[in-house]
Amino acid sequence: MTKKPPEQAKEQPRNKQLSHIHHLLSEHFGLLHWWPADSPFEVVVGAILTQNTAWTNVEIAIQNLKQANTLSLEILATLPIKQLEELIRPSGFFRQKALRLQNLTQHLLRDWQGDLTAFCSGPLDDVRERLLARTGIGPETADSILLYAVGRPSFVVDAYTRRIFERIGVLTGKEKYNEIRQMFMQNLTEDTSLYNEYHAQIVQLAKTCCRKKQTFCSACPLSKECRFAKQDRQKGRRLSENKGRSENPEV
Ligand code: SF4
Repeated sequence: MTKKPPEQAKEQPRNKQLSHIHHLLSEHFGLLHWWPADSPFEVVVGAILTQNTAWTNVEIAIQNLKQANTLSLEILATLPIKQLEELIRPSGFFRQKALRLQNLTQHLLRDWQGDLTAFCSGPLDDVRERLLARTGIGPETADSILLYAVGRPSFVVDAYTRRIFERIGVLTGKEKYNEIRQMFMQNLTEDTSLYNEYHAQIVQLAKTCCRKKQTFCSACPLSKECRFAKQDRQKGRRLSENKGRSENPEV
């Protein structure tokens, strides 16, 4: 008698899968109310300062700017560059970041009368292009500004998103930034609060359960959905089966 092939697990459609993951993360973390800032302009500054550094360093730099009464678009645009560098030094790459901040703020002042809302108004793709045209503003920074400073529905992709969704098995690791962003945006409802919370939850998961060098899959709300965790469980099962066989060869 010929054996039946093992039943293939049915893959969920991508939109259902991404929504289900969001649902699990929401149940686990609740609302995270991002971004931690007192004003849209502070989000813009934070989005530039957080490039290649930990958020705790950004907090110190922002605190320095606040203490020196310099956290405004007009002041940052005209502050002597050396003074700005010193204030943001804790965020690392401070020379580059000072130039980036001044490039953007001077542009906003000169061409948009310092009006961030006007600069970020109009079709989403056009505004995104406008941001990407500024020195040192890449896709992640542009999308963070769009989503968290001015509430436009632009999904943010970062290293955490890549890591988690690769481990889950949704990404292969070869996708470019825009492909990943499109995947989320084409499969989720266009909704600023959804994108806001989803990205915040991804960051939270990456910092708690799904770290770069260590995973805590048994505590992770996505463990049932995750290819990495499934493989790990199978490996564990195989190991204990083998162990059982060698310890008790007669069973
Ligand atoms: S189950 Fe493990 S590998 Fe998968 S997302 Fe969670 S922590 Fe990361």
